[in-house]
Amino acid sequence: MRIIDLHCDALLKIWRSNGQLAYNNAPELASNKARLLQGGVSTQCFAVFVPPTLRAEHKFQAALDQIHYFYDEVLGKNPEMKHIKEWSDFDLLQEGQIGAMLTLEGVDPIGNDLRQLHILFQLGVRSVGLTWNHANLAADGVLEPRGAGLSVFGKEIVHFNNAHQRLTDVSHLSENGFWDVIELADYPIASHSNAKAICDHPRNLTDEQAKAMFDKGGMIHVIYSPAFVKQGEGVIISDLIKHIDHFCSLGGVRNIGLGSDFDGITRFIDKLENASMSQNVIEELLKYYKEDEVRGFAADNFLRCRPR
Ligand SMILES: [Zn+2]
Repeated sequence: MRIIDLHCDALLKIWRSNGQLAYNNAPELASNKARLLQGGVSTQCFAVFVPPTLRAEHKFQAALDQIHYFYDEVLGKNPEMKHIKEWSDFDLLQEGQIGAMLTLEGVDPIGNDLRQLHILFQLGVRSVGLTWNHANLAADGVLEPRGAGLSVFGKEIVHFNNAHQRLTDVSHLSENGFWDVIELADYPIASHSNAKAICDHPRNLTDEQAKAMFDKGGMIHVIYSPAFVKQGEGVIISDLIKHIDHFCSLGGVRNIGLGSDFDGITRFIDKLENASMSQNVIEELLKYYKEDEVRGFAADNFLRCRPR
């Protein structure tokens, strides 16, 4: 069954290797092309994530360098990889092709300049997370003790996203920031977050947050990081399904998707150690859900909710 995966950090790893890792099949890449093909992943979103430790004046260049590897390494050396530049491009994908879409995880690289965000849009960025875990000029992240919502600049970014039909991603955002986004964003999404009621992790979403996301027509994509699934060791795929069950109980059956975070995580759910094992999630889901519901979680819910 085809899968649209809303989050991986392969670009970060390729960038850190100075382009030495081959996207085609480097074993260091949990979401390399060979593994996506094996796992039936039909579209992979590629996050541009610039580490907070980098000096501010180098961050935009670092984002451009990661996008360079997206064009040169991911697309340029792999003809099966098709760039999703427009929302309608999903409809053009053929059998054997994999869609590749750029997303931005934290707006630190643009400083205080919306024109730089516009450049990233023109290069293909279609989803914008305002922060990673800490604060920047747009908002506070979940680990910023201040816990503030969006700044005036952060709100400008959300309006800019709306005007350009870009998603605004709430994964990593503070709770106050979340509520600002729910109020302002036309296309909110949580690209890689689970349910706090099932696993009390600061990156997971409360029931109130999840319901608000569903009411707004946005998506929550569950993340495969064991720390977000269950406390303790020995996390298995059925533990991940409990998050989907819970979101369904809150009315999300048509607004749930998948966001693995492969190459951003270092611990794994058993039998879900890289993208080649993605169909194991589908097989487990098919034990409990109707086929069309599972197709929804895997890809169709996102396709229906995407901007038009
Ligand atoms: Zn993340």
